[in-house]
Amino acid sequence: MRDITCPRCGNHISHTFKEVKKVIKCPHCNMELMIDGRSQRMLKYTRTLFVAIVVSILMIGMMNLGTVSSYVALIIVLSIMLALMNVYDRLCLIITDKIFHLRYVPFEKPDVKEAIKARKAKEKKKHGL
Ligand SMILES: [Zn+2]
Repeated sequence: MRDITCPRCGNHISHTFKEVKKVIKCPHCNMELMIDGRSQRMLKYTRTLFVAIVVSILMIGMMNLGTVSSYVALIIVLSIMLALMNVYDRLCLIITDKIFHLRYVPFEKPDVKEAIKARKAKEKKKHGL
């Protein structure tokens, strides 16, 4: 997997397969980075595609039911899918990264934005008086 360059300190953030996350932290300066809007959209597509594939497999399985072995096969497939649901989020993230290459941007916490807005409003008020 590729390395990401931290926009704040310019150091490389090595990024291994196991660590594909929506939000990562620079080990050098602790800056938080998150996937950008495009990556988020791609992640949504991957998730939709993933669900579509799972549903299609189930539909095909349902159509071929009848024999004992087909029921056994369906139960096995369902078990595998249940197990996959646990890693679904990460799996989609890894697939999205493989195909579209996730891009990271500085993470902005909503409360920080709100705080800045509140401060600006306060200053405006002060100047107005
Ligand atoms: Zn950094």
